[in-house]
Amino acid sequence: MSPSKAPSMDFETFYNIIDGKPRSSKAIHHGVNPATGQELWDVPIATEKDLNDAVAAAKKAFPAWRDTPIEKRKELLMKFVDMYNTYIEEFTTLLCKETGKPRKFAGIEVGAVGAFIGYHCTLKIPEEKFEDDEKTVYTEYTPLGVCGGIVPWNFPLILSVGKIAPALLTGNCIVIKPSPFTPYTSLKLIELAQQILPPGVVQAVGGNNELGALLTAHPDVAKISFTGSIATGKKVMEVSAKTLKRVTLELGGNDASIVLPDVDIKKVAPEVAMGAFQNSGQVCVATKRIYIHESIYREFLQEMVNFTKSIRVGSPDDSDNLLGPIQNAMQYEKVKGFFADSKAKGYKFAAGDPDIAASKGFFIQPTIIDNPPNDSRIIVEEPFGPIVPTQPWSDLDEVIARANDTKTGLGACVWGKDVEEAAKIARRLEAGSVFVNSWEKPTPQAIFGGHKESGIGGEWGTTGLLAFMNAHVIHVYKS
Ligand code: NAD
Repeated sequence: MSPSKAPSMDFETFYNIIDGKPRSSKAIHHGVNPATGQELWDVPIATEKDLNDAVAAAKKAFPAWRDTPIEKRKELLMKFVDMYNTYIEEFTTLLCKETGKPRKFAGIEVGAVGAFIGYHCTLKIPEEKFEDDEKTVYTEYTPLGVCGGIVPWNFPLILSVGKIAPALLTGNCIVIKPSPFTPYTSLKLIELAQQILPPGVVQAVGGNNELGALLTAHPDVAKISFTGSIATGKKVMEVSAKTLKRVTLELGGNDASIVLPDVDIKKVAPEVAMGAFQNSGQVCVATKRIYIHESIYREFLQEMVNFTKSIRVGSPDDSDNLLGPIQNAMQYEKVKGFFADSKAKGYKFAAGDPDIAASKGFFIQPTIIDNPPNDSRIIVEEPFGPIVPTQPWSDLDEVIARANDTKTGLGACVWGKDVEEAAKIARRLEAGSVFVNSWEKPTPQAIFGGHKESGIGGEWGTTGLLAFMNAHVIHVYKS
């Protein structure tokens, strides 16, 4: 029997979700549709009491959820997916409004929720057994307890689910704090989950950065799974140290893409550009530096420019648009700084206009900077917007060193006809996820995390489950 829609759901009223129930607050804020500048619906700002109540409810719910057999937990999660899938259109519209992303791409994110939870429900929690004459040693894993998930604004829905799926599957309870810029889809998703899951198992508290800090400091929270900027990640780790919380930090990156001389230029150049401009560059693993072999540099750059100039930027509702706006005013100003700096330093704009100005929406035409110096801001820092530098290279060891010459190490790409050769280069790049002949497309089937300042630990896939668990080793002696 196909699931019916929940009678109480409307997509215009938003609540925090505490102990299975919707809760309002005296204090409210609202998001802004970045494509139109229009104010969106009110959302309650959770108070410290709301947060404490949520953590207390999670603590109460934890023993029963932990002791629920994993097959039953999977059954409930899949039942939730079935119900969620009856709301695909509503979630897609909501995601378009809160992020401004084109409907096609919002649809991909909304559709990924079922795929994400579904894949996690096929996984087994790893265990090991060692035996000798004297003893048997069982290495097992147990859930941590109450977890907190802190989420950014670029993929608000899937990054919430990327924490909820492994946390619940492994028997933890989780409290999600969405970004104040994009609270809507996460709050609705978690409200809907109350139809299926016991109270306290998954909850949502919306609010500002201060609420994130309170969640991080809470003594009854065993782990924080944080996705966001490097600067905030460092604060989360510092505060977590006080209670020795487990932390997973999924932070920013400065991905290099290395283009080898033997590529099919016409085919690969638009793909490399898409790696940089996906979601208007607002992707932790977007390509942020492009290194093209000098023998094809001009031709390859020209193909990238041709493709980039053909990209349509605008409203989510026009299906011809490939890119939407920058998600918020603060980020728009930050990205503008990279344009101003590149212009002031006299760098060459191969595509795009140095003088950007927002109208009703925070739209920016994708932009390529041709061969800025190694110490330029656009090479060294993460713009998190649709502006990317290209540089030529001639010596493989030197370009690998240049790609690795960053404090971050989240993603990277290598493009070449000889796949074996390209994969060898991929293994020399200091990044958590390296893609050969594709732009960065993280998948729930593998752990996702960064090297160096791009983060600590990782989640997703079987290895990622362990981020939500304690090792619990039982040594059984035979006599
Ligand atoms: P941000 O660090 O400003 O905010 C992220 C979240 O942290 C928000 O919910 C915010 O309210 C909360 N927060 C802020 N201050 C806090 C504090 N002191 N304690 C606890 N929580 C606090 O990041 P953002 O601007 O929302 O997101 C953009 C950044 O996120 C980029 O750098 C991007 O690369 C990174 N990102 C990383 C990944 C990844 O998986 N590695 C994925 C998406 C985005």
